[in-house]
Amino acid sequence: MLGAAGEVGRSGFLVGCNGTNLLLDYGIMFGRRGDPPKYPVHVKPRDVDSIIITHAHLDHSGNVPSMYISGNVDTYATAPTLELSKLLIEDMLKIKSNVHIFDLPEVNSMMRSSIKIGFKEKVKRGDATFELRESGHVIGGGTVLVESEGRKLFYTGDIHVRGSRMLREADLDVGEIDMLITESTYSQTNQMPRQESEGNLIEFANEVMDRKGTLFIPSFSVERSQEVACVLRNANFGHKIIMDGMALKVNDIMLRHPEYLRDSKVFSDAINRSVSIRSHYERERALGEPCVVISPAGMLVGGNAIFYLQKLAMDARNGIALVSYQGEGTPGKKLLETGKIVSRGKEMSVAAEVKQFQFSGHSDRTELFEMIKSIKGDPEVLTVHGDRESCSKFAEEITEATGFKAHAAQESEVVTV
Ligand SMILES: [Zn+2]
Repeated sequence: MLGAAGEVGRSGFLVGCNGTNLLLDYGIMFGRRGDPPKYPVHVKPRDVDSIIITHAHLDHSGNVPSMYISGNVDTYATAPTLELSKLLIEDMLKIKSNVHIFDLPEVNSMMRSSIKIGFKEKVKRGDATFELRESGHVIGGGTVLVESEGRKLFYTGDIHVRGSRMLREADLDVGEIDMLITESTYSQTNQMPRQESEGNLIEFANEVMDRKGTLFIPSFSVERSQEVACVLRNANFGHKIIMDGMALKVNDIMLRHPEYLRDSKVFSDAINRSVSIRSHYERERALGEPCVVISPAGMLVGGNAIFYLQKLAMDARNGIALVSYQGEGTPGKKLLETGKIVSRGKEMSVAAEVKQFQFSGHSDRTELFEMIKSIKGDPEVLTVHGDRESCSKFAEEITEATGFKAHAAQESEVVTV
C-alpha cells in the first residue's frame, strides 16, 4: 500500500507476484490552499516490472512520470487513458512545474514506454497475468485483475458500477477472487438517482433560458463536461451550448475512441452540435444570446471560469449549475455556502441563481454493496480511497454483510494472500 490509505488521492499499490512486481496506479494528491502536493510512498523504478494505470485522473496517474527520472518501466493502460493522462499531466506541469519532481522529458519517456491494451486483453509478465476491465468511471477507465500462482486480485480503481449516459456499466464478471482492493469514496452516502439529477438540471437550464439568461456550468474537463452536454442533447435542449477550455481537447480524444462509449452517436451528436470556443474573441461574442456555457474549472479554480463568472454572476437572470464535487477551500465551495465570489480582489455577492446537482462518477453506497455482493469466492478485502472513517466503517460493514475478512488499508502496509 503506497497511498490512498484513509484518504482520497495519491493511489499506488505495489503487487508482488513471485518476483514480478506490478505497480497499480501512481497518483498525486494536491495540497490544500497552496500546500505542496503529496506523493505515494517512493518505489525504485528497478523494483517495478510494469505499471498499470487504471484511469487518467491525476490522483491515479499524476506521479507515473517520476518513475522515468532514473529508470524505464513499461506502462500499460488503455489508449484513452494514456492520451488523457498525458494531457492532464502536461496541464498540471504548466500550472506549477517547479513543485513536481519531474518535468516534460519524463512525461515523454512515459509515453514512449507506454503500451496500449484493451479491456479483457491479458498481459503476461513473469509469473503474473493482468488485464483491465471496464469500470464505468471515465472513458478508458478500468479495474485491474491480477493472477499469479493460482491467486487472483481484483482492484476496483475508481468504479461506477452502473456507468453513466456516456459509459457502459462496470464489468463485474471477474470470477472467484482471493483479494479485493476497493475504493470507498461514497461508501457512506447515497447519491440522488441519476435520472432525477438529469431531470433537475434540464429543468433549471430551461428556466434560465425562459428568463433570457445564460446558464454557466463549470465542470471538470474530463467526462463531466461531456456528460452534461450529452444529458442536454438527449433531452432535445433547444438552445446553444458552448464548450470551452481543456474540455475541447478531451472531446477530440473521446471522439477518436468511440468504442469506449456507451453510445458514440449521442456523444458525437452532442459535441458536434455544441459551439467550441477557441479564442478570447469568440468567447466574448458567444454570450450574445441565451445559452449554456460548459467550461472548466469544475470547482471554479482558474481556467476560463473566472471570465464567465465576471460576465455572468451579477445578473439575476443567469444561473450557475455546479455539477462537480466542490473541495474544501475552493471558490466553488465558497459560492455554494455563502453565495459569494472573489472577483478582482473584491468579495461580491452573486446575483445569478446558484444550484448544485449530483453527477458523481463514483459508485454510491448502494452500488458499492451491489458490487461487493456480486463478488465470488472468499476474498480478503482492503478498503482504500476514502476518508479514514469511511474506509474503516465500510470494512466493518463488508464483514457484516458478507463474512469476508476486511480492513482499512494502512500506508506502507504489506498484505499477503
Ligand atoms: Zn477517478
